[in-house]
Amino acid sequence: MKKRKILIPYPKSRFLLVKCPDCENEQVIFDRVSTTVECLMCGRILARPTGGKALIEGKILKVFD
Ligand SMILES: [Zn+2]
Repeated sequence: MKKRKILIPYPKSRFLLVKCPDCENEQVIFDRVSTTVECLMCGRILARPTGGKALIEGKILKVFD
């Protein structure tokens, strides 16, 4: 019997708790965004799409997986 190895694991997407560097609002952001995510309080961009993992511009406080 042949064993099938999966070399590249299915990319897991996660939710991140990100703190806005401008107003300190804490917001949950999906780590694979397709559009920019703005802070709900002040409108600062917190995450930018890169085609894969989002570029997080705030401080990641917690990762939910
Ligand atoms: Zn903010």
